Amino acid sequence: MASIVIPIYGEGSHILNSIRVIDNLLKENHIYHKFILIDDGSKDNTWQQLEFLAYGNTDITAIRLSRNFGKEAAICAGLEYADGDYTIVMDSDLQHPPELIPEMVKIWREEGYDVVEGVKNARGKEKILYSLGVKVFYKFIYKTSNIDLSNASDFKLLDKKVIMAWKQLPERTTFFRGMSAWVGFSRKPIGFDVKERVNGKSKWSMIRLIKLALNAITSYTTVPLHFITLMGIVLFILFLIIGIQTIYMKITGRALDGFTTVILLQLIIGGSVMISLGIIGIYLTKIYHEVKARPRYLIAKCIKGGKEV
Ligand code: UDP
Ligand code: MG
Repeated sequence: MASIVIPIYGEGSHILNSIRVIDNLLKENHIYHKFILIDDGSKDNTWQQLEFLAYGNTDITAIRLSRNFGKEAAICAGLEYADGDYTIVMDSDLQHPPELIPEMVKIWREEGYDVVEGVKNARGKEKILYSLGVKVFYKFIYKTSNIDLSNASDFKLLDKKVIMAWKQLPERTTFFRGMSAWVGFSRKPIGFDVKERVNGKSKWSMIRLIKLALNAITSYTTVPLHFITLMGIVLFILFLIIGIQTIYMKITGRALDGFTTVILLQLIIGGSVMISLGIIGIYLTKIYHEVKARPRYLIAKCIKGGKEV
């Protein structure tokens, strides 16, 4: 049995259609499945629709989060309920082509891979600045943590084993794509073309993306922290050299033409200290969140097996 986990935020206008399309396709291919639909605190009529579906069909579990916690948290909530032999995570706007699922299932079943991951062939229509940012971001993650996320998507098939491993990770600030790569297991990529969104618009703003990127980087690597130390050492050496030179000038009575040097030094040191503090701050925030151990999401309502649980 397959668990289909779908995070949904404000997709009321077309969610019923998306579910129907996916459901029909899976039925045609004789893939026995149950849906786990997570409403990530939508403000439109998404929840009413999910409720309607779940009360009428015991194979649909609908979970309403108490507010918008973000896609990552919504996926987490869904995985918590996933009890199939394998789980498929996909978007609700049909940008992850359901036609690919039968092939993914075949790879899982016949070739025995534990993770089958959807990889974007060509990224859909994106702004130049955005795709450049994305490239730099993946390169950085790859260089620092050896996890290749380029063109990765959240469209994945995960074996029960992987879900179990994933549930053991106690951290709260996870990044689904990265985490499912981190746990390892045998994996096979499968390419797909990103289609146009069926309806509504993308929920990602520049700020949200930057937040996601910072979260992902600081979840995987402490390289920025090491970089700070290195920078500190280099600056210290520089400082020593200039310091010695200044003293030498003073002794030989040629001092007082170092005004520019002072200013420059001030800028360099001031700047690097600030950057360093900022980076440390980001990691500290992470520790703070982990230590607080607050749940990643709160469930307001859950309808399973046709009734509220
Ligand atoms: N989504 C969510 N919570 C959010 C934002 C988005 O659950 O806060 C869901 C959304 O409903 C969709 C998926 O995450 O199913 C991908 O979102 P979107 O299509 O906006 O992103 P894009 O395809 O542009 O990456
Ligand atoms: Mg989308």
